[in-house]
Amino acid sequence: MKIAVVRERVGGETRVAATPETVTRLIGLGATVSVEKGAGEASRILDQHYKDAGASVEATAAAAIKGADVILAVRRPDAATLAGAAKGALVLAIADPYGNEPALAALAKAGVSLFAMELMPRITRAQVMDVLSSQANLAGYQSVIEASMVYDRALPMMMTAAGTVRAAKVFVMGAGVAGLQAIATAKRLGAAVSATDVRAAAAEQVASLGAKFIMTDALKDASGTGGYARELTKDEQAAQAELVAGHIAKQDIVITTALIPGRPAPKLITRAMVESMAPGSVLVDLAAERGGNIELTVPGQTVVHKDVTIIGTLNLQGKISATASQLYSKNLYAFLETMIDKDAKALKIDWEDELVKATLLTRDGAVVHTNFAGAAA
Ligand code: NAD
Repeated sequence: MKIAVVRERVGGETRVAATPETVTRLIGLGATVSVEKGAGEASRILDQHYKDAGASVEATAAAAIKGADVILAVRRPDAATLAGAAKGALVLAIADPYGNEPALAALAKAGVSLFAMELMPRITRAQVMDVLSSQANLAGYQSVIEASMVYDRALPMMMTAAGTVRAAKVFVMGAGVAGLQAIATAKRLGAAVSATDVRAAAAEQVASLGAKFIMTDALKDASGTGGYARELTKDEQAAQAELVAGHIAKQDIVITTALIPGRPAPKLITRAMVESMAPGSVLVDLAAERGGNIELTVPGQTVVHKDVTIIGTLNLQGKISATASQLYSKNLYAFLETMIDKDAKALKIDWEDELVKATLLTRDGAVVHTNFAGAAA
């Protein structure tokens, strides 16, 4: 059983799909591991570290994946990178399938079985494989770090001989995985933190972190299916906008994380709301990848509007690549482990397993996932 790790080719991607630790564990399951040269460099993992863990290092992707049963990546590799992959080889990656149907069709044609790690069901058994959570948690942390670096005041209250410095006010919109970590991080830095979410269950979680939960009486609970939020009605949106408009003018830092599955990110902060904030205020839009929660967000960029900074950086977790790679590679390992027969030291895939069915996009030359079946090149 051969497992290959390829270097990332998407611009700006700093993570890697295996660490020396997971390489050692994969070898422990009976695999041989080959890593493409330089794959871990942006996460400060050198080729020698992989060699020390027992992997071979190959000069090209083609050499690394030759004869591999499994190919590990962070972003979905393209068909050119996978040219030469064995028919039926498993590819595990963040596949970003929505809107990318032609790329899926191309990989189906290449004959690989592509798994989208981000489609992992959020059930107890799969928590250890949940890349959305492991990466969103880090993005939430990093959002506060980025904001604090741009903000030109201190965050905690300080009582000094030279006078008292007030605590910065941080407001977090959306208290899911990323939002809760943003709240916890801002609290640790000593900020006065408030947060909002449209799911009633979030109120208790926010309070348990010592932050103030803000919600309008007009909106009781917008929980949808699977623990996610549903889209708000027009009246609910208006009530939320009124609440936010009043609150945001008094904030120094705002972190937005609000998402609704399968929909563009809801627009929660208008230009007028941004203009109501004091000069020097900072907003970080973690929903930028899905269009953003802030009207002025430019995905992938930091913009300054009337002396207020709006950070729309994508892949914030990539800024702490060593940590992000450590957790992502553990997620991959945990999933792969379920597909390996430890006695036979070989792959043994239960194609009916709910984790496999939920994540498998392509197999035997076709796009097989029900959401994308019929995708054509
Ligand atoms: P997400 O990234 O899809 O959304 C982020 C947050 O935005 C959510 O809390 C959502 O309620 C909120 N939101 C949506 N519209 C909003 C609006 N208009 N205003 C303010 N907030 C808005 O969510 P997530 O972080 O992936 O997690 C969402 C849910 O999934 C939570 O209930 C969480 O506990 C659950 N979860 C379960 C598992 C598991 O069981 N393994 C793992 C992770 C998350």
